[in-house]
Amino acid sequence: DALSNKIAAGEVVERPASVVKELMENAIDAGSTIIEIELEEAGLASIRIIDNGDGIAEEDVLTAFHRHATSKIKDENDLFRIRTLGFRGEALPSVASVSRLEMKTCTGDEGTRVVLEGGKVEVMEKAASRKGTDIIVTDLFFNTPARLKYMKTIHTELGNITDLVNRLALAHPEVAIRLIHNERQLLKTSGNGDVRQVLAAIYGMNIVKKMVPVIAESLDFKVSGYAALPEVTRASRNYISTMINGRFIKNYSLARAVQEGYHTLLPIGRYPIVLLNIEMDPILVDVNVHPSKLEVRLSKEQELNELVSLALKSAFKKEEL
Ligand code: ADP
Ligand code: MG
Repeated sequence: DALSNKIAAGEVVERPASVVKELMENAIDAGSTIIEIELEEAGLASIRIIDNGDGIAEEDVLTAFHRHATSKIKDENDLFRIRTLGFRGEALPSVASVSRLEMKTCTGDEGTRVVLEGGKVEVMEKAASRKGTDIIVTDLFFNTPARLKYMKTIHTELGNITDLVNRLALAHPEVAIRLIHNERQLLKTSGNGDVRQVLAAIYGMNIVKKMVPVIAESLDFKVSGYAALPEVTRASRNYISTMINGRFIKNYSLARAVQEGYHTLLPIGRYPIVLLNIEMDPILVDVNVHPSKLEVRLSKEQELNELVSLALKSAFKKEEL
């Protein structure tokens, strides 16, 4: 019902960035190769996401806005085992319950248009459109003023969104992603599958030219990615990005292991730019904190940290030769 949707929304939809995350993940799950995100006022005025994915069949449109009785998984630790990003069936109903939402979706033949206000369906009709889904979320939190008051500045909210879109773009170099804010383009990736193209779109080609490939393998782990040479540094740890099995995670000791790989090469208070993906058996990952924040605990952490440090050290050695 409306109330339980609103309560669930409190957990799923904290801020504009959470809406962008959920809608983008749905677009990716739908097999989209092109995703466009258009924001007004850091998403507080409007968030529009257009994809060219599978679309939703007319008979499934209303179900998509109902909280699923059964989720795709039983245990949050299954997170690294399942292939789709979404699994709880809560995102669309949650977003809809705290906004005005218009969706046009089409599976290829006939399309559907639906309009919801505070989660209540106002319009549902057939509509011509091309294959894919186009969702516009306006007036986010219009019916939850307490939540609205909690929003930070446009600058901060936009920063959260760009961080998130950058991360999703890095995890999905095969998807062409365009992010536009108040008619200004902030990111555009080509979708050619090469992660260096995404790194160039985010950090600039000059930085990518100073990044070296990192690869290493042990019995349990396979590490791959790119690391900027020690001469290129940043004032924050945020530029150390780590993925497990293609999903972004946060893990303090892994970030430390990356820094350890630079050993004495970095000045005090300066941090490297690194993107690493670690392939491992999902059984070694424990999602022990908040699943959406993706803090994880790892078994065999010591082994992985040593492997990561070594991989970085040898990446720079190769560069010297
Ligand atoms: P979940 O992603 O956990 O399944 P959501 O509430 O995010 O739940 O979405 C509900 C369902 O609506 C999805 O399972 C999917 O079938 C459908 N859906 C949502 N967004 C899209 C989209 N952009 N393209 C195609 N199908 C979508
Ligand atoms: Mg989803």
